[in-house]
Amino acid sequence: KAARLPGTKMLEGFDFSFQPSLSERRLWELADLSFVRTCTNIVFLGPPGTGKTHLSVALANRALTAGHSVLFTTLSELSNALSTASHPGLVRSRLRRYITPRVLVIDEVGYTTLSQEQARYFFELVTARYEHGSIILTSTTSFAGWGTLLGDEVLATALLDRLLHHAEVIAINGRSYRMKERQMDRASV
Ligand code: ADP
Ligand code: MG
Repeated sequence: KAARLPGTKMLEGFDFSFQPSLSERRLWELADLSFVRTCTNIVFLGPPGTGKTHLSVALANRALTAGHSVLFTTLSELSNALSTASHPGLVRSRLRRYITPRVLVIDEVGYTTLSQEQARYFFELVTARYEHGSIILTSTTSFAGWGTLLGDEVLATALLDRLLHHAEVIAINGRSYRMKERQMDRASV
């Protein structure tokens, strides 16, 4: 089954000196993939351009290389896949697609708010994977903002309770690497 990873970013290609709030040692510990065996989730929190997708893809690539099943998606892609399913059977089979892999990457939480139905599907997915498979999730929105994101504070609390029970939360409080590259472009003109 296709993992649908966008590119082949590696941990080796990550410049940790650019992101001092990030512990390089902690990332290399995660790269030993014990999080997959213990069904521990990994949550990368931080502003755009700080390397959340890069690090998620790097860890997912290692899991894939080690023989684990992996699937990459974004929150909006998965929400749309579930909310546009035309009948309950299709919802079930699409949900199964996201439940089955050992490692599911859910990228870009925080860029879109969810409908009531999509929020329920997201909750259902996190609940189904709880203690069964790892989620690597990236978010630009801190947990306090997830009630607004899901349009439901109670549902957000219940979802975060399951997501974070066995989880490594990695906050990146740094500069955007994209902006750095743009500034270098300007400097070289
Ligand atoms: P985010 O998902 O947090 O918005 P990305 O992971 O997409 O950010 O990073 C933006 C771009 O910058 C990508 O091409 C990524 O590979 C690169 N990048 C980000 N941080 C670093 C870093 N510390 N070292 C090397 N490349 C980086
Ligand atoms: Mg990203």
